[in-house]
Order: sequence, then C-alpha cells, then structure tokens
Amino acid sequence: MTGTDDFTRTELFWAGAWHRPISTDRLSLVSPSTGRPIGQVPDAAPEDVNAAVRAARDAIAPGSEWAGLSQADRADAIERLATSLQARDGRIKELLGHEIGRPVHGPPRPNRAAEILRYYAGLARTRVAEQARPSPDPRPAGSVRVSRVRYEPVGVTAAIVPYNGTLEMGLYKVGPALATGGSVVFKPSPQAPLEAYHLAEAALEAGIPAGVINIITGGARAGRTLVEHPGTDLVAFTGSTGTGRMIAESCGRALKPSVLELGGKSAAVVLDDADLDHFSRMVPYLCFTFAGQNCFIHSRILAPRSRYDEVVEAVVTAAHSITVGDPFDPDTRMGPLISAEHRDRVEGMIRAGSAEGADIVTGGGRPGHLSRGWYLEPTVFANAGNHMSISREEVFGPVTAVIPYRDEEEALALANDSEYGLAGSVWTSDQARGAALAARVDSGSVGVNTYGFNSAAPLHGRRASGLGGELGPESLHAYTRYQSLHLTGL
Ligand code: NAD
Repeated sequence: MTGTDDFTRTELFWAGAWHRPISTDRLSLVSPSTGRPIGQVPDAAPEDVNAAVRAARDAIAPGSEWAGLSQADRADAIERLATSLQARDGRIKELLGHEIGRPVHGPPRPNRAAEILRYYAGLARTRVAEQARPSPDPRPAGSVRVSRVRYEPVGVTAAIVPYNGTLEMGLYKVGPALATGGSVVFKPSPQAPLEAYHLAEAALEAGIPAGVINIITGGARAGRTLVEHPGTDLVAFTGSTGTGRMIAESCGRALKPSVLELGGKSAAVVLDDADLDHFSRMVPYLCFTFAGQNCFIHSRILAPRSRYDEVVEAVVTAAHSITVGDPFDPDTRMGPLISAEHRDRVEGMIRAGSAEGADIVTGGGRPGHLSRGWYLEPTVFANAGNHMSISREEVFGPVTAVIPYRDEEEALALANDSEYGLAGSVWTSDQARGAALAARVDSGSVGVNTYGFNSAAPLHGRRASGLGGELGPESLHAYTRYQSLHLTGL
C-alpha cells in the first residue's frame, strides 16, 4: 500500500461526531483490480452499535432539534445533504475505482445521490403531519364523529446495504427516513464501506442535526446486532436473498417491520419485431453493468426461435464492444468482480452452465491481458434452457444466457418461471404490444425497450426478490407510524 492509496479510516460516526470504536477488530479493504490492500476500517462491536442506536434514539426524542423542525425545514436539510454529496461526486467516483473496481470514466451520468435526495426533499415538503377523517356513517352524539390520523416517524431505521451501491442503496433508506422525521443507523457492506464516510462528512457539512445519520462499519456481526437491537424500529435491507431471509426471520420473532430488497434473475423478452440494433446497444447496461454485479441484471434473454441466431449475434456484438480493464483507464467500461472468492463462484456457475449443455459463444474465461485483479470476460451462453442453473440462480457476474422460445405465451411463461421477481424488460417495435406483455411479467418493475430507475416509481421486488419496497411516495409508508385520535366532533 502506498501513501496515496491508503483509505484507512479509524473512526465511526454517531451523535454528529467521530468516535474511536470500542472494538479493536478491523476489516481489511482490498482493491479488486489489483488484489492489493488499500486500507482498513473498524469492525464495529455490539457496544459500538449500541452507542450509535442510542444517538439515533436521542435524535428523535421529544424536544430534540430534529423532532422540533417543520417539514419544510427537514426538506431544506435533505436538500443541503444532496448539495454536499453532489460536490463530492468526483472524489467518490475515484474512491469507487479503488474500492469496488467500478470504472471511473464513461458517459456522463446524472448524480444519483443528489437526484434521490432531492426527490425525498420534495416529498418531505408536501407531507402532511395529520389528516382529519370524518366517520363515514352518521353517529349518535358521544360516539366517534371524526378521527385525526397522525403521521409519526417509525423511529430509528437500521439501514444495511450490499457492496454494489453503498451510497445509492443507502440513500434509498436515508431519504424516506429523513423525509418522515426519523433517524438512521447505516451499515455499509464490509467490502465497500468508504462511501459511507462521505455520507457522514456530507451530513456534518449540511448541518444535519446530531444523531439523525449515524454510520457503523462492520460485517454480519454488526448487521445482526442492529437487526436484533431493541432500539431499532425498522430494518431496511438491500442484499442477498439468503441474508434477507435471516433478517425476515429475526424481525418476525421481534414483530419488527422490515423492507427487504433482495436478489434477481431478470429476463429480457425480445419479441419478433424488436429493433435488435437498439437492443444490442442496451445490452452492456442490461447485462454487464458493474461486471454483472447488480440486482436488475438481465441474466436471461428470451429470444424467438425465428430470430434466435440474430439475437445471439446482437448480444455477442454487445459483449465484444465492452472494454474490460483497469477502472482508471479511460477506455474501460467493465472492471473486475469484487473478490477472488466471488470470481471463483461465478466461474463455478459458468462451468455448471457448460456441463448442463449450454454453449459458451463468447467469454467464459479470464481476460488474458490482465495479470492481476479479479476480472472475467463478458460471457454469453447460447442454447440455454430455463431449467439450467445459470437460468435459475443469481450469478451476480458478467454472464447472460440466451434462451429460445416458440411464441409470446411461452416467452411470458419462461420469464415468470423464476423464484425471483425483481426486474425485466420487453423489446419490440410496437410500444403498445410491449406494454401489454410487460404488464403480465410477474416482476416489480419492467421496462419496454429500456430499463432503469426512476426515484418517483417504486422498486418492489416480488417473491424471493423482496418484501415491501423503496422509492416513490409509497416508500414513505414503511417509515411512518400512524395514530388515530378519535373525537366526538370537528
Ligand atoms: P449480502 O447479503 O452478503 O450482504 C448485504 C449486507 O448484509 C452487508 O452489509 C452484510 O454485512 C450484511 N449482513 C450479512 N449478514 C447479515 C446478518 N445476518 N444480519 C444483518 N446483516 C447482515 O449481499 P452482498 O453480497 O453484499 O450483495 C449482493 C446481493 O445484493 C445480491 O443478491 C443482489 O441481488 C442484492 N441486491 C439487491 C438489490 C435490490 O434492490 N433488490 C440491489 C442491490 C443488490
């Protein structure tokens, strides 16, 4: 490790200040593009988690600064946080190149952090604190004539996120928590904790009252402590389905609400009238974003038998257009996988795909020109079946399988024949036909000739892809608790 790439952090953030942790355990950070250590962060002990939860509780206690603010003042605070994070955009991009191997260059993108927070600032501004609800039936004197329904923050949110989008996934939770007047203890992935330090610094710069945003770094131990902690009122989790199930069990026992955004196995349904040039241009994003380490990744492409070879060619052309390499090289569009273990796992799934009878038409191995780091080639399987493990299990790597179908009904049946139900897309020259089919895809979000995110539209995974959801005004519900004050008259 040289002085310039040492990202070591020694403190945790709670009650609006940096603290040396009680824990002496440390998490080592390793650059996936070089395999070299780039620093350490604390692995928080339960005592550290306790301190952060206490700070979060104090921040929302009656009489606290945050509890006393108007919704307009809270909206202003969220806006200031957006501005502080936006100003850090360049530093964060660079950091992600080191920490998770995400390409630093590429087409300009809007600042998602600011976009998400500004969306929630807007919701905060228009949110009502209570509503009067007259009883729908005529009532005798002395009985309930009207109820005042009060909207309160749910309390302290335990926000836990995976390695592939620390800030973005974090803000999906921080946004609604702040917009409803709650507070957060945020735990990033042990593999990608550094963006969370920027969030803490931005919160300080933005003057977010102490204890409203607290940051704990750690692994499963810290995560479990947060989930099981009697001082947390909601668990908002993004991560794997396996971890999500454990959290759901724990929350079930405690009768604590949870919002779970989990894995995916999304399908692109390419119809017989699809514009394959357009589809091919979208494939790098759909199938290979962040080396396939994204929940929405379309790892199944359903192609009509009548155009099967053309679709395979469109996907292969797209795979060949992707420059794999060092995240800091301006030409690079795909970096490495997060760890050596994860690459081993993905390679095991590629071997299974071949053993089960699918054909690798491009990729399948490690790029020859990269001697270090955990790279894999963009990999496309043809002649794959929906029953094969590459079509059923989440790969979380740069691997996609082209599966043939006979007619539209079979395509739909294949798309829906999955444990998961997160995302998906339909590709066609006929927008109305595409929208009609997309509505029958059993997933929380489906694109027609596109796929992407819209802060104003909910992301609700179905089945093994999640419980509840994030984004859109619907997300505020999980962060709100209600009290009905029954009165005898207006
Ligand atoms: P992971 O489940 O291994 O870890 C996620 C987080 O949970 C980490 O912060 C981890 O430390 C913590 N954790 C681990 N065990 C815990 C426990 N017992 N209690 C509480 N917390 C615990 O996931 P990952 O490998 O970091 O991320 C990849 C997964 O995330 C993929 O399955 C992907 O599909 C999913 N994901 C889903 C979405 C979505 O919106 N649906 C978005 C991004 C990623």
